[in-house]
Amino acid sequence: MEINTTIQSIEKLVQEAQSAFPVLKNKNIKERAALMHLIADEIEALGEELTKTTSEETNLPLARLQGEQARTVFQWRSYADGLAAGTALPVRIDTAAPDRNPPKPDLRKSYVPLGIVVVFGASNFPYAYSTAGGDTASAIAAGCPVIVKAHPAHPRTSAIMGQAIARGIRKAGLPSGVFGQVFSDGFEAGNFLVSHPLVKAVGFTGSLTGGKALFDLAARRQEPIPVFAEMGSVNPVFLLPGKLKSSGEELAGQYIASLTLGVGQFCTNPGVLMVPENEYLPDFIGALREALQKIAPVPMLHQGIANNYQKNKQRIIGQVGVELIASVAPGEKIQGNPALVKVKAQNFLSNDVLAEEVFGPFGILVTYSDQQELLAVARKFNGQLTASLLVNDEELGQYGELVDILTTKCGRILHNGFPTGVEVAYAMQHGGPFPASTDSRFSAVGPDAIQRFARPISYQNWSDEWLPDELKNSNPLDIWRTINTEYTKEPI
Ligand code: NAP
Repeated sequence: MEINTTIQSIEKLVQEAQSAFPVLKNKNIKERAALMHLIADEIEALGEELTKTTSEETNLPLARLQGEQARTVFQWRSYADGLAAGTALPVRIDTAAPDRNPPKPDLRKSYVPLGIVVVFGASNFPYAYSTAGGDTASAIAAGCPVIVKAHPAHPRTSAIMGQAIARGIRKAGLPSGVFGQVFSDGFEAGNFLVSHPLVKAVGFTGSLTGGKALFDLAARRQEPIPVFAEMGSVNPVFLLPGKLKSSGEELAGQYIASLTLGVGQFCTNPGVLMVPENEYLPDFIGALREALQKIAPVPMLHQGIANNYQKNKQRIIGQVGVELIASVAPGEKIQGNPALVKVKAQNFLSNDVLAEEVFGPFGILVTYSDQQELLAVARKFNGQLTASLLVNDEELGQYGELVDILTTKCGRILHNGFPTGVEVAYAMQHGGPFPASTDSRFSAVGPDAIQRFARPISYQNWSDEWLPDELKNSNPLDIWRTINTEYTKEPI
């Protein structure tokens, strides 16, 4: 493993990926799904060598890593199954009506891969959003060779995962250029890849700064390419008065559990909680304080993340009107000690800094005096991955405007729940309006994520023998298709 892959070696990887592209592109969806199952088997077979290495590199506990490994395997398998069933890349067929005036042509639409995809993973999900994560699985499912820029926070993990993917590719009899990985500690390698004329799309999971920088770089190219960047969020939670009254104590515990899960190092961490100013608020704050103080500080992913956490937390605490209401004493330098602050809605509304993500176990309570103030706060948020409503059924009807505002702001809206925990499923939407992601029309989680790396193509009036397998009359792949508005597996 090269510690810092040279530009010369990266160029070689790009050329190998380009040579592998026509081979992978011409594998039908069943064959690509079979490849993905082979890769999933290889990842599943990685034993303690993987989890122990990652735990050393990231400070994440073994149980969490085993869970994430299983999730990663499930991603590969469920995306493969969606691909093979015809549901992930939908096929539409409108048969000809030659007697119509004017005659209607035969139209058949499926997908072709974009070309080489460069993937940047995040530090906080070393498996599920990294080398072998959802972006790599989606791109290979779409038929695109992938080059990963390994995250410098877990290079040995990335190497082990890369080898597993390579074994799967070998077992499928495909060229090694289907997958490549670059190790680098600065921006040069990533920038080189995103600027490379043979690279046709980028998958990114990480910070807003990184995602936006790569998005801008891709847009400045002579041939601009799509960058699907999933970035940070504060995932606002709106606690309504009736729910505070009926369930305040219970919700306090649940909120703190969600806020501090994984030392707050989740993109869906609920960093801002709106609470009504009324007679139930002091008890609620007392319950939050009690729950928070039971959470021991534990090591964060790495020193850089821990330094940023302390710095960004202090920056918020130093803002006008911000009051510290609970905190855990700091432990060793790298540990993330949880803290909670309170601020009035009027201060929040006049200060953009308070709506910025603090990556770690840090929460802001925004207290609102009435519904109008709550709506003003809701309108202030930028695009979010999630928004959550804690509400009694009888009061939901009075807050229709709040729900309306939130549906314009987020990709997933939760009813009486907290947003940490992202199910891998078709109906999951992981992504949201900018800055949560750079393209809110797509999800980074679930088999639909594959559509990011393929583009639709219509075949008009082609004879059956020349059509791709998924469009042929006999439906040789036995997949689901929409034929003249009917969803069916029937042949034509
Ligand atoms: P990060 O610092 O942005 O790093 C992600 C990757 O991008 C790294 O490989 C990094 O390379 C590269 N990179 C960053 N800035 C770059 C630039 N300007 N030019 C070229 N490459 C650049 O993110 P992280 O600290 O690993 O992850 C934490 C963040 O990810 C949090 O904000 C979290 O909310 C977010 N996140 C989002 C999701 C989601 O699905 N939306 C999931 C997980 C995490 P170097 O490190 O070598 O610079």
